[in-house]
Amino acid sequence: MPEAPMPSDTDSLRWQAVLDRDATPACGPFLYAVTTQGVYCRPGCPSRAPLRRNTRFFADIAAAEQAGFRACKRCDPKGERAALHAEAVRAACAMIEAAETMPSLAALADRAGYARHHFLRLFRDVTGVTPRSYAEGVRARRLQAALSAGDRVAEAVAGAGFGSESRVYEDTSRHLGMTPGAARRGGAGEVIRIAHAESAMGPLLVGATEKGVCFIGFAEPPEALEGDLRARFPKAHVEAADDALAETVRQVAAFIAEPAAALRLPLDLRGTAFQRQVWEALQRIPLGETRTYAGLAAEIGNPAAVRAVARACARNPVSLAVPCHRVVGADGDLTGYRWGVPRKKALLEGESRMQRKRLTQSQKIE
Ligand SMILES: [Zn+2]
Repeated sequence: MPEAPMPSDTDSLRWQAVLDRDATPACGPFLYAVTTQGVYCRPGCPSRAPLRRNTRFFADIAAAEQAGFRACKRCDPKGERAALHAEAVRAACAMIEAAETMPSLAALADRAGYARHHFLRLFRDVTGVTPRSYAEGVRARRLQAALSAGDRVAEAVAGAGFGSESRVYEDTSRHLGMTPGAARRGGAGEVIRIAHAESAMGPLLVGATEKGVCFIGFAEPPEALEGDLRARFPKAHVEAADDALAETVRQVAAFIAEPAAALRLPLDLRGTAFQRQVWEALQRIPLGETRTYAGLAAEIGNPAAVRAVARACARNPVSLAVPCHRVVGADGDLTGYRWGVPRKKALLEGESRMQRKRLTQSQKIE
C-alpha cells in the first residue's frame, strides 16, 4: 500500500531540507528513501543527495520499513549504531574502572571491536574525554576517596591502582590538584570544636572536626590563634569544646613539653592535593631527624617544586602533628617557621635530645 500522498508544499519543504542537509528541518521530522539504493535516511544524512525523482518521503521508520527500505548506515535513522557505540564506550568505561592498571588504547579498542583511531574518536564523542583522561579521573577519584577515608598515602596509591607513587604525583598535579573543593577546605557547613590551653611554649589552640584534628597553633596570644583558625576555615561554625578535646590538648601539650614519641592524632587535613602530599611526606620524617625542602620535593617525586614545598610547609594547619619544623634549609639553617624560629629550634633540640637518649638506652640494653 503506498503511503498517503503528502501535500506538495510539505514535499517541497522536505526536499529542500534534504538538499540543505538540514538535520532539524522547520517542517518537522521525516525520513526520505532513495529508491535506487533501497535505503532510507534522516534529513541531514551526510551521503550524497539523491535525485528528486528517486526520492520518497516517509513520516516515520515504520512507514519506510513497511515500504521495503532499510536503514542507512551513515545517518543511522534508527539510532542502532549510536546505541551500539554508546554500549561499547560504556563497556570500555567499566573495563577502565575495574582495572588495576590503565588498559592500553589498543586493548580497549580490541575489546570493543573497533579500529584504534575510530574507538578513540567514539570514546571522546560519548564521554567528552580521552580514555587516558577518563582513567586518570577514575584513579584520582579513588585516591581522593582513599585519602579522605584516612588511608596512608602509600596504601591509597596502591589501592587506587597507580603504577607507582611517583606516577601518581605526576598525575596528581594535573588531576587531583583541583579536586578537594574549596568548600571543603573552607569548612562550609561544618562544626569545628576548639579548645584553648597553656603549653610549655605559651598559649595553645586545638581545633577538630568530627573526623579529626584540623588545626594546631601555639605560641601566640589566644585571640591571634583563633583568628588564624577562623581565617583558614571561614565557612565553619566554631564552638568551644574544652572537655571534648581535653585528651587531644593534653597530648599536644605533652609533646611540646617533651617530644617522647611522634604526635599521632587522628587528623583531618584540609588542603590542595599538593599541600596534602607535602604534609603526608612531613609525617614520614622520623622524630629526631630533619629534611631539606629540596629533599622533601624529591621525595614527593617533584624535585623542581622546592618553593612550592616550602609554601605548603608554611601552610601546614596542624603544627607538631604534621612536623613541618623538621624541614631545614639546604645548609641546615632553620629558615622560617610559622610559629617562630626560636620555637623551631627548641622543638628540634628537644627531639634530637630524645633521640640521643633513646639510642643510649638501646645501647645499654644490648
Ligand atoms: Zn543516510
